[in-house]
Amino acid sequence: MASRISRTLVATVATAGATLGVTLANPSPASAAMTICYNTSQAPSYASIANQAATIWNNATSNLTLTANCGTNLRIYQITGGGSYAVRTSLGNGRVYIDTQQAAQYSPLRIMTHEIGHILGLPDNYNGNCAILMSGGSAGTSCTNPYPSTAEANRVTSLFAGTRSATERGADSGSTVFQDSWPAALAPVS
Ligand SMILES: [Zn+2]
Repeated sequence: MASRISRTLVATVATAGATLGVTLANPSPASAAMTICYNTSQAPSYASIANQAATIWNNATSNLTLTANCGTNLRIYQITGGGSYAVRTSLGNGRVYIDTQQAAQYSPLRIMTHEIGHILGLPDNYNGNCAILMSGGSAGTSCTNPYPSTAEANRVTSLFAGTRSATERGADSGSTVFQDSWPAALAPVS
């Protein structure tokens, strides 16, 4: 008796499933955006700048979403002297250091979006072109452009295509350090 009821239920559920058809068969999208949690607790002077930089990257790319203080894929620090730099432990994971002295010479937002660009997989490209975010300080202190070029943004989008979370990517590889992106400006003649 019990097994007959079970068979009836199974048949009923199967019929309902067949009716719903396509909806039940569809898996979740393969390229859902990866969340990269950045943490600004060690960079209190630049939390707002980091939020602006995250918005710039989020608007320019797909496949990833930078979100504030939900975790620690990306830790942001402020330091004094030594130069701003980034340590990418793997794609979407690492640390960014903002030198307060450089941020007084160069656009702090450009520095922030540039250094985050390293965490997102971009190398330096010191071609002096202010339209290129990864040209960094080679474009001079007068360059305040904080936006990645279309090519830079598309590169990041393609690097993040896939289904792995940023945390899963954390086990991928050794660290890569990107430094000396912001050469010291000439000291003022006194
Ligand atoms: Zn750089």
